[in-house]
Amino acid sequence: MNQVLNYQKYKKIAVMGGTFNPIHNGHLVAAEFVRQELGIERVIFIPTGNPPHKNTNPMYNEHRYLMTVLATVNNPHFEVSRLEIDRQGYTYTIDTITELKKRCSADCKIYFISGADAILQILQWKEPEKLLSMCEFVAVTRPGNNIKELEKTVSMLKDKYKGKITLIEIPALSISSTNIRHRILANKSIKYLLPSNVEDYIHKFSLYQAEDITSKEIEKIKGKLHSILTSKRYKHTLGVAQEALQLAKRYNVDTYKAYLAGLLHDCAKCYTNKEKLELCKKYNINLDKFLLENPELIHSFLGAKIAELEYNITDFDILNAIAYHTTGRENMSILEKIVFIADYIEPNRDYFDGLDKIRELAYKNINTAIIFALENTMKYLKNRNIKLHPLGKKALMYLKEEKNE
Ligand code: ATP
Ligand code: MG
Repeated sequence: MNQVLNYQKYKKIAVMGGTFNPIHNGHLVAAEFVRQELGIERVIFIPTGNPPHKNTNPMYNEHRYLMTVLATVNNPHFEVSRLEIDRQGYTYTIDTITELKKRCSADCKIYFISGADAILQILQWKEPEKLLSMCEFVAVTRPGNNIKELEKTVSMLKDKYKGKITLIEIPALSISSTNIRHRILANKSIKYLLPSNVEDYIHKFSLYQAEDITSKEIEKIKGKLHSILTSKRYKHTLGVAQEALQLAKRYNVDTYKAYLAGLLHDCAKCYTNKEKLELCKKYNINLDKFLLENPELIHSFLGAKIAELEYNITDFDILNAIAYHTTGRENMSILEKIVFIADYIEPNRDYFDGLDKIRELAYKNINTAIIFALENTMKYLKNRNIKLHPLGKKALMYLKEEKNE
C-alpha cells in the first residue's frame, strides 16, 4: 500500500514513534496527554521499520502496523503512517522527520513524543543536532523517573545543541510491550493493558507465541551457519538456541532475542586460530595476553563483531551475550547469563560430572548454575594447568558476593 498523506492544513503535529510490538495503553495515554497539554491537532503514530537498536522479528511488521491502526481508530486526532514500515534498510528518525516536513506547511511545528528513557540516549541517534533543530521533543516522564538526571540532559541539549525539549509528567502507567509479550508466553491475562481490539487481534493470530521463532531472518542465518560450521558444531548451535529459548521463557526474557543470540554464539568458530588473529587485527579487537595464549577463547569476542557485520545484529544485549558466552563477566545481563548457561547445558553436550546438577539449577536459580559451571570449568582447567580467564574469575566473585548479600 502506498500511502501519501498530506498535513498542509495543520499548524501543530506530533510524531509518536515506537516499535509498538504491540501498542499498549501506555503509548496511547502518553500521546493523548501530550496532545491535550500542547494543543496538538494531529498525532501521527509511526511504527518503526527496521530500527538499528532493536532486532524485531520482521514477520511482525505488518501486524505491528495493523495493531496500531486498531488501537487508534476511535481517536479522531490520531492516525498511523507507513512511512517507516515501508522503507527498506535501517530506519532513522531524522529521515522520517525530513520526509514528514516535506508534507507539512512551512510554519507547521513538529513535536516528537518519546519516553524519557529515549531522550537520555538521543545523542546516539543519527544526526542528533539536525534532528533537534527540526522538531521539538516532548519527553513523557512517569513518577519514579530520575528527573534530576533528565533535567541535566535536557539543559545540556539546550545549551549545546539549542534543542527544545519539554518534559511532561503523565499518569503512572508502567506498562511495556516487553512485559505484555512475556505475559502472553506465560499464559497470563493481558486484559486492560491494551485496547481490547488489539488483544483480540493478538489472540486471533496467536501472536507472540514461542513458535514464532521462525522468520526469514532466522532461516537465512541458519542456512549460512549450516554452510560454515561442522555438522557437530551446527547441531550444538541449534541446541544452544533452543535451550536459550526455553530459559528465556523461564526468566521472562525476549524469546526471539535469546534464540538469535544462541544461534549466533559460535558464529566465529569456523576460523582457524591464525584467521581469528588476523580478523581481530582487522576489526581492532584488543586481545589481552591471556587471549593470545589461549586463542580458543577468541571466537566469543570475534563472534560478536562477526554477528554485527555479517549477520546485521544491532542489539547490544545480543552482541554482549555472544562476546561473553565463554568467559562470563561481572554484572552480566540476564540474556548474557542465559546464553552462557545454555551453551553449557544444551541437550547435545557430551556428558560430564555435574552436568545434571547444572541443568537442574539453570531453571531454578541461574546465578547458582553459573557459579557451579564456572567452578566446574576451573577444576577442568586446573587439571590441564590452565587458569580461568580473569573475566570469569570476576564473574564468579561477583555472583558469589551477590548470593551472600
Ligand atoms: P519494549 O518493551 O519492547 O521496549 P515499549 O513498551 O517501551 O516496548 P516502544 O514501542 O519501545 O514500547 O515505545 C515507543 C515510545 O513510547 C518510546 O518513546 C517509549 O519510551 C514510550 N513508552 C513506552 N511505554 C510507555 C508507557 N507505559 N508510558 C509512557 N511512554 C511509554
Ligand atoms: Mg522501550
